[in-house]
Amino acid sequence: MENKRYYDIAVVGAGPSGAILVKEIIKSRPDLKIVLIDGQTEELSKPCGGLLSPSAQKVIARLNMVLPKSVLVDPQIFAVQTMDIDQNITRLYQRCYLNMDRYAFDKWLLSFATQNATIINGRCTKIEKEGDSYNLNVVTATEKIKLSANFIVGADGGSSIVRRTFFKGMKVQYVSIQQWYEDKGQNVPNYSCIFDAKTSDSCSWTIRKDKYLIYGGAFDKKGCREAFENQKARLENFLGNPFGKPVKTEACLVSSPRKIKDFCTGKEKVFLVGEAAGFISASSFEGFSSALLSGKALADAFIKGKTYQQIQKEYSKNTRSLRHRLRKRAVKRALLCNPFIRKIVMKSGIQSISLYNN
Ligand SMILES: Cc1cc2nc3c(=O)[nH]c(=O)nc-3n(C[C@H](O)[C@H](O)[C@H](O)COP(=O)(O)OP(=O)(O)OC[C@H]3O[C@@H](n4cnc5c(N)ncnc54)[C@H](O)[C@@H]3O)c2cc1C
Repeated sequence: MENKRYYDIAVVGAGPSGAILVKEIIKSRPDLKIVLIDGQTEELSKPCGGLLSPSAQKVIARLNMVLPKSVLVDPQIFAVQTMDIDQNITRLYQRCYLNMDRYAFDKWLLSFATQNATIINGRCTKIEKEGDSYNLNVVTATEKIKLSANFIVGADGGSSIVRRTFFKGMKVQYVSIQQWYEDKGQNVPNYSCIFDAKTSDSCSWTIRKDKYLIYGGAFDKKGCREAFENQKARLENFLGNPFGKPVKTEACLVSSPRKIKDFCTGKEKVFLVGEAAGFISASSFEGFSSALLSGKALADAFIKGKTYQQIQKEYSKNTRSLRHRLRKRAVKRALLCNPFIRKIVMKSGIQSISLYNN
């Protein structure tokens, strides 16, 4: 069977959603032949802030997992400095995130999936339905492989080939651009959330990570690089010092689900998890909690359901409250990204922290 490369389930993408899905299925169904395909390398790893939110921490706790310290980086941050450059307002809000090395986090999650699944380090370039199963073309560094599977899972993030092939894409997507600089003690907050209506209707951020300082943001696809450079210049001016010469620039698409129909869990024998399904916060781009939760939800559906209809129904039921929670984040985004409302909220100081008033 192995030579024919036929699998019960082919999972495209080994980020948090794909890794947890496989980890959780193989625990109860070691009989299933699963292949996990991902082209990620340390050099071509996903651009990310790598902050583990309290909701993601809760999911990890509920999965009975503990985070190894090898995944963490310096510094650990207790607050976000929120800045509205255009309206010249700054506020500090408490946050309880863990600061991580994103690539190390993915590798750690993947280590649980490797025991009973076949891992292919390559990119899936085409998927086609043939009769009752699906054929996949995968390109690795050394060969082109053809696989066949009974079920397909798209765990392949914001630019999901699975979603593009079988379903409608996400309506609103930004290009997220991040630059890394050597940390030379620049006068930049350790962690900040930046609004600047002149250059983006979304948000940007700075984060310190070990020896580096990251500045990134989400920008309209059209003219994204120009908007990024404009905003960087405005931010440097606002903070009063330049970031320096970038050592790395990275970019990817990031989804911003606004409506219930932006969430797509799949149909027939093709399912979507994590960001491919639209499970990401539109207000903060926090996506680890939804990726882990949806991966677990689909694994439970696979374990419980005997037919694809039952799996589909169970998965949809398991993710109902997640969809509602993310819908609320879209409402929050609409409020936060409205400069007028943001000004009122920030000026009021509500929920902000200061030294003597809290
Ligand atoms: C710039 C940025 C910063 C972010 N910061 C944070 C943060 O600090 N905290 C947080 O909680 N969330 C953050 N997010 C969101 C978070 O990264 C995602 O929501 C989360 O990673 C989604 O997990 P996933 O497993 O669904 O998809 P991903 O993590 O995107 O993983 C998809 C995987 O699929 C692989 N893949 C894609 N296409 C193919 C293909 N054709 N063939 C084979 N493999 C493929 C990719 O290599 C990747 O490994 C950020 C997002 C961006 C863009």
